[in-house]
Amino acid sequence: MTATAIGVQPAIAIHPGRANSLHLTEIPLDEPGPGEVLIRVRQVGICGTDRELIHGSFGTAPSGAASLVLGHEMLGKVEAVGPEVFDFTPGQLVTATVRRPDGCPTCEAGQPDMCQWLEYTERGIAGLHGFMTESVVEDVRWVIGVPHELAHVGVLLEPLSVVEKALRQATLIQRRIHSWNPQTALVFGAGPIGLLGTLLLRSRGMEVVTMARRPGPHLVSEIVEAAGARYVGMHLQETSIPEVAAALPPIDLIFEATGSAAPSFAAMEILGNNGVLVLLSGASGPAELTVPAAAINGSLLRGNKVVVGSVNSAREDFEAGVEDLTSFETLWPGLASRLVTRHLDGLGDYARILDRPEGDIKTVIDVDEGFRVAG
Ligand code: BGC
Repeated sequence: MTATAIGVQPAIAIHPGRANSLHLTEIPLDEPGPGEVLIRVRQVGICGTDRELIHGSFGTAPSGAASLVLGHEMLGKVEAVGPEVFDFTPGQLVTATVRRPDGCPTCEAGQPDMCQWLEYTERGIAGLHGFMTESVVEDVRWVIGVPHELAHVGVLLEPLSVVEKALRQATLIQRRIHSWNPQTALVFGAGPIGLLGTLLLRSRGMEVVTMARRPGPHLVSEIVEAAGARYVGMHLQETSIPEVAAALPPIDLIFEATGSAAPSFAAMEILGNNGVLVLLSGASGPAELTVPAAAINGSLLRGNKVVVGSVNSAREDFEAGVEDLTSFETLWPGLASRLVTRHLDGLGDYARILDRPEGDIKTVIDVDEGFRVAG
């Protein structure tokens, strides 16, 4: 970045690798250089990755810095544009992608979300400060415009982009089949990723069953059902996964977003022939598991099934997210905003980030305090 510091501003940071080191710090307030915009941060969403970062599981500070500013789900407003910026104007709502390239062939070809060397940097995660501050300078290559009509839900665009990428990957892969017309989908997990995946697949007209641990009814099951999907609440390691699957038509697509490594193996077995299983959640535990290896291999082989990992997202996934969030609002007015269950009042409220009240789906920090009221 070519930005010049013109002051300092507060930011929420951690010392990466050290558990519970969450603190307020000060970072430079920059001025946008050529091809850059200055974004006033309005809201930042908190996700499982942030919680893992706070627990010290991973994360790296920018080179030369002792701490890492968190935050990779951002909705902001363009405050100023640098020279040679033609596509953005002050006042416009925007979000930004998370990952920046490392020079590997795939990154060089414009696909940092498919980075090959894994030496990328990521805002608020790996080697780059995130968005939990007042203003950020960003290269316009990573900035996506958000229509004002989406102001109340725009903070969901980053997690939505993750499931957009998952569906895009599945669709690209399925070009191997001349007539892929997915009818039935399963979503494992009903956190923000599982729920946004449910909405996305429902908006494409698929029959969707969303499975997660907690038996309903509760807000999550209500959201799933309001989108016309079925909610099944049960422990996902249990034998009931095959039972649920047996009562369904062949399963064309599965999104795995539980945060646990175990359900993927059951998913491999119940996936329909020619189907795709997309693994979306970090493989946290169990480290080892006994699985029916020969049966799984055999069914993947005989059924031409695909298991694919999908992480991060590209600019095109954010753009698809803008379109789909708009169509969610038409299909189910007000439903997407029900995912935001908790608001923190500004950066100073950082100590409450890790609280998990029963039923919390997505916590958002209202960095720009007037924003929530003003919309
Ligand atoms: C983000 C991704 C990111 C990943 C890294 C996720 O929470 O949505 O964009 O690549 O964390 O672990």
